[in-house]
Amino acid sequence: MGLPRVTVFSMGGTISSVDSGGKGVEPTLTGEALVSDVPEIERVAEVSAFSFRQAASPEITVRDLAELAAEISGQIDGGAAGVVVTQGTDTIEETSFVLDRLVDREAPVVVTGAMRNPTLPGADGPANLLAAIQVAASDVARGLGTVVVFNDEIHAARFVRKTHTSNPATFRSDPVGPVGWVSEHLPRVVLRPTGKHKLALPTDARESPVALYHVALGDDGRLLPEIEAKGYAGLVVEAMGGGHVPSAIVDTLEDLASRMPVVLASRTGGGEVLRATYGFVGSETDLLERGLIYAGPLDGRKARLLLTLLLQSGASKEEVAHTFDTWLDG
Ligand code: ASP
Repeated sequence: MGLPRVTVFSMGGTISSVDSGGKGVEPTLTGEALVSDVPEIERVAEVSAFSFRQAASPEITVRDLAELAAEISGQIDGGAAGVVVTQGTDTIEETSFVLDRLVDREAPVVVTGAMRNPTLPGADGPANLLAAIQVAASDVARGLGTVVVFNDEIHAARFVRKTHTSNPATFRSDPVGPVGWVSEHLPRVVLRPTGKHKLALPTDARESPVALYHVALGDDGRLLPEIEAKGYAGLVVEAMGGGHVPSAIVDTLEDLASRMPVVLASRTGGGEVLRATYGFVGSETDLLERGLIYAGPLDGRKARLLLTLLLQSGASKEEVAHTFDTWLDG
């Protein structure tokens, strides 16, 4: 039997960044070059590599990802056992989350990158790419949706976050931890996320910009009215603790929530937004009564992308609330 077929889409980032005579390294290596730099890949899979974008990952947009999701689905339908996406680590937690919503296939979609560029000692790109291809080619990762393979760990897109500016062990999935790992070249999966939460975007999906607002000590909310004035279609509030804001901004939030979906997330980075504990003005009970939508366990960045995709797919405010509400139940 031949080796499984794996498609690699490269999108730039540190993994592909070398010195090109500019101020610092830049993402110039193609997908083909990344694959041919790791001879061990030949023993794992038959790989086709495509350079989908060559950029630093802050340049990637939701529109790019919708296009990439369609390409990925096409590759899987054409017989690929799995797909690997290489890109910058700065936005992996967001891009993997979007791909996980948009690609509805059993075959694994694996996102990876590098923290140390190829010009540095201990560059981690080659090992990450090899491990990503091993996971993409393996049966054990089928049905997991989109995962991030990094530093020999397998992380579910719905939980993963970048937690360090330079450490190769930057990706973490609180509170569950990785869903598996790669040991001696063998992928092992020990946890499976519940539910799939797939979304299909219409071909004429309308632009639906969603603002992300981080609440901080002493905030008086003077920026908030600008959100509607600037044409945003929705807002995610990263509130303090269990979902709390200064009382000075509650009226403005209530006003916005009467005209656009306003989702209440937590800035803490762990746990669910509360629903029924505190009663002060600006508490979670107060804000939910004023029409804000509960983000559950999703952090602000992932909640913003889910709201963006829901709005693009034409969901009503009730459908948006229902999706966030039932997220944990699958
Ligand atoms: N700035 C880079 C990027 O996200 C960082 C990286 O790849 O690690 O494109």
